[in-house]
Amino acid sequence: MKILVLNAGSSTQKSCLYDLSDDAAPDMPATPVWEGLIDWTHQGEAAEIRVETAGGKTLKKLVPTDDRAKVIADLLYTLCQGDTRVIDSFAAIDLVGHRVVHGGAEYRECTRITPAVKEAIARLAVFAPVHNPVNLEGIEAIERILGDVPQFAVFDTAFHHTLPATAYVYPGPYDWLEQGIRRYGFHGISHQYVSQRAAQLLGQPLTSLRLITCHLGNGCSVTAVHEGRSVETSMGFTPLEGLMMGSRSGSIDPGILIHLLRQGHTPDDLDRVLNQESGLKGISGLSNDMRHIHAAIAAGNERAALAFDLFIHRLQTAVSGMLPSLGGLDVLVFTAGIGENDPLVWSGLCRGFEFLGLKLDPDRLQRSPDDQEISAPDSRVRVLVIHTHEDWAIAQTCLRLYSTSQRQ
Ligand code: ADP
Repeated sequence: MKILVLNAGSSTQKSCLYDLSDDAAPDMPATPVWEGLIDWTHQGEAAEIRVETAGGKTLKKLVPTDDRAKVIADLLYTLCQGDTRVIDSFAAIDLVGHRVVHGGAEYRECTRITPAVKEAIARLAVFAPVHNPVNLEGIEAIERILGDVPQFAVFDTAFHHTLPATAYVYPGPYDWLEQGIRRYGFHGISHQYVSQRAAQLLGQPLTSLRLITCHLGNGCSVTAVHEGRSVETSMGFTPLEGLMMGSRSGSIDPGILIHLLRQGHTPDDLDRVLNQESGLKGISGLSNDMRHIHAAIAAGNERAALAFDLFIHRLQTAVSGMLPSLGGLDVLVFTAGIGENDPLVWSGLCRGFEFLGLKLDPDRLQRSPDDQEISAPDSRVRVLVIHTHEDWAIAQTCLRLYSTSQRQ
């Protein structure tokens, strides 16, 4: 079974092809046979395409056009043409899965894409103006290039459909809720994958565990998972709420926005400031990349030190706010770029939770290419570092839905 996964973001479009017939261990993430990336951030009317195959072939080229559909087509043609060719023709692709950021309240699980689903993704773009349109662009590119191959949408909001009303309703006027202004939560594919993987690593049923999963990448969020279900999460109506992030502020007093609007700032100014000029970058004045923050701290930069301390403080506050929903904590999971790689973030967060009997093992606080446990043997909370595999999770989810639909 060959499954193509498209994961479109604001500045990149990541794609990969899995060949599941070669998959010896279905529970373990497989290596894609082909991985492609479009980087839309180049100056001028050009996009960069990068491709890598499991066989070690690589390709990097600039496509000099502002026609995004053409760039996506150019990327997909590298699947069956040239040095990076891994299939004879597009007909070899059995299924296509798309990460779709916003599924609103209606899409609670992976869904086969139909005209009605496309309409819904377009309608929900009012809530996710950066992401849903690029997700739709990918779906339409596949329709044009691959014809009527079955396509599926895996929604980043879906895992959070189990949030109780107390977690998803904002205490504004009730009318907001009726307009769809409520908390949805994001990074659901990753939170769900790492919680399932944690249970697998610990050899315990997921339904018996109380977990908090920390997805710390460019975007950051934490989720409380009880009996396998998301019961609280830090992102809300948009991916701006909650933790301090690379260049996003996370939660701030909404009164600040009223103040700035009265001072003459426009909504677009506030959007840019809160999404692109805040967080680690805003406080340090240097970078949204945690590696640069550490380098600056080592060189004595005080604003970088404040940015790091604030990042940890916000993370601790969010994690501690979730403890009552779980009634305790069995497992804490770190994932995504910062979460998978940064021992100072692991120890910084965990230092606040020693009162729970949580103890890290100092000998284990090193990055590893493998998923690993970093808590001490006598810790009352198990602490795991798990590499997230959102694309693999999308491929698996689509395959399950497809197989079920074939049996009916
Ligand atoms: P995205 O949300 O775009 O998928 P990632 O999960 O790839 O992002 O995370 C990207 C971030 O991970 C970078 O901005 C950087 O701050 C962080 N990161 C990557 N490697 C390290 C490292 N070795 N130590 C600390 N942070 C890291």
